[in-house]
Amino acid sequence: MTASPIAFIDLQAQRKRLGDAVDQAIAKVLDHGRFIMGPEVAELEKRLADMGGARHCVSCSSGTDSLLLVLMAWDIGPGDAVFVPAMTFASTAEVVALVGATPVFCDVLGDTFNMDPASLESAIATAKDAGLNLKAVIPVDLFGQPADYPAIQKIADAHGLKVLADSAQSYGGALAGKPVGSWGDATSVSFFPAKPLGCYGDGGAVLTDDAELAQRMRSLRVHGQGSNKYDNVAIGLNARLDTIQAAVLLTKLDIFEDEIDKRQAVAARYAEGLAGIATAPAVIDGAISAWAQYTIRVTNRDAVAAALKERGVPTAIYYPVALSDQPAYAHYPRAGNGTPVSQALAGDVLSLPMHPYLDAATQDRILAALKEAVAA
Ligand SMILES: *Cc1c(COP(=O)(O)O)cnc(C)c1O
Repeated sequence: MTASPIAFIDLQAQRKRLGDAVDQAIAKVLDHGRFIMGPEVAELEKRLADMGGARHCVSCSSGTDSLLLVLMAWDIGPGDAVFVPAMTFASTAEVVALVGATPVFCDVLGDTFNMDPASLESAIATAKDAGLNLKAVIPVDLFGQPADYPAIQKIADAHGLKVLADSAQSYGGALAGKPVGSWGDATSVSFFPAKPLGCYGDGGAVLTDDAELAQRMRSLRVHGQGSNKYDNVAIGLNARLDTIQAAVLLTKLDIFEDEIDKRQAVAARYAEGLAGIATAPAVIDGAISAWAQYTIRVTNRDAVAAALKERGVPTAIYYPVALSDQPAYAHYPRAGNGTPVSQALAGDVLSLPMHPYLDAATQDRILAALKEAVAA
């Protein structure tokens, strides 16, 4: 009685659903041959901006580069403080360090996993004491749920901070009726294959209403070009999105809203089935998560993960170490009382299989295995 293996993220189910649409879209690019900044790139930018409720979209080579482009366009550099949550992927703080500025770590909330506004206040005091210029805050929409933008924006306004939303995991989500893409001064998105909207390689985008910011990023992604490629008005990057990846994304966009709906159903089934087993992740009022991950907190996490693996259930740990504790980042400043919630999360978070094509029967198997694993 061997049951079929369970996928953590099932990209093949999505591929099956798309049929030969992706192959055809790629073949079209191979035929027209405009591999760099071909027509699919502009078409994709338009659709992403429309769906994200933003005036402009600048696509680029990765989520990381999308964050970097914004900081470069804002001229953030040495002596500047940029506030980042401690529970996030490395990119969020990495780009700050790359432009020579100082990432200042804030703690997160234990139920939503997102930036704690009170900790942001405390981190601002730390940065002031250190004589840093207060420049920007990068809230992260961890696991797909938008951060508390209304609360963070209020603090940002009081201190003259720009808000760059790291929505690498949350494109497709919304908060208070406004889509991800329309919060803050700019929104960064990743199309890494495992993200809710993933391509078949690396890709990213920035959404913004700020025409001047968009213009600067369009220049920076092509070596700081002016009127043409051989007119260099700024130090930039080679950070364009490949036409083939744009074609893949356009095809996937056709089913994306339906996939976001399906993810809601999967998350709801988990929340119901988890009763009496573990605490379901909290979603703040008015938020729609893109459910990039479905993450619970469990005691004896590593033992539970091992027991689940034995029962054929794959899991993942995002993230096993708070970024503020990583060797490359441990020397950077942080909020007054440190990042204890992020550190606790690193010890007990566990992400369960999550994707739009997770059927109820498989979810029941996962929940049954989890029930045994936490009782063991
Ligand atoms: C994936 C991710 C990134 C980076 O995106 P890439 O496309 O892999 O460069 C940045 N921030 C967060 C929170 C992410 O999850």
